[in-house]
Amino acid sequence: MGYDYDSDNIFAKILRGEIPNDTVLETAHSLAFNDIGPQAPVHVLVLPKGAYVTWDHFAAEASAEEVMDFTRAIHAVIEKLGLDPASGGGGYRLIMNTGPDGGQEVAHLHAHILGGKDIGKMVS
Ligand code: C5P
Repeated sequence: MGYDYDSDNIFAKILRGEIPNDTVLETAHSLAFNDIGPQAPVHVLVLPKGAYVTWDHFAAEASAEEVMDFTRAIHAVIEKLGLDPASGGGGYRLIMNTGPDGGQEVAHLHAHILGGKDIGKMVS
């Protein structure tokens, strides 16, 4: 996987409205929707709308406005779903699978927010 963006990837089609999604939140530069195959009671994907393959691609090339929007969109989903432990929620896990070793299947950057139950530890 390189930095070459394939505009036929499934999330690009979702962003263009060609494939439906179960939207949780939308901002100027980001879209959040429920994962089609949830791995926890809460499983939301947050995507920047721009054509970025990986976190590294995004971090290196996105505008400050896009980076802030994506960061705040993730936070807004966490608040909206009541997951923030500082606000009485139970917490959550935030994941970006990256590249082949990271198990990334869709080549458009997305963050997974998982929660709604004790999902245990992955890294000690
Ligand atoms: O991080 P990774 O690329 O493996 O995650 C892709 C995610 O996209 C999966 O969790 C899958 O269930 C989800 N997906 C989706 N809607 C689709 C296609 C995939 O929510 N139409």
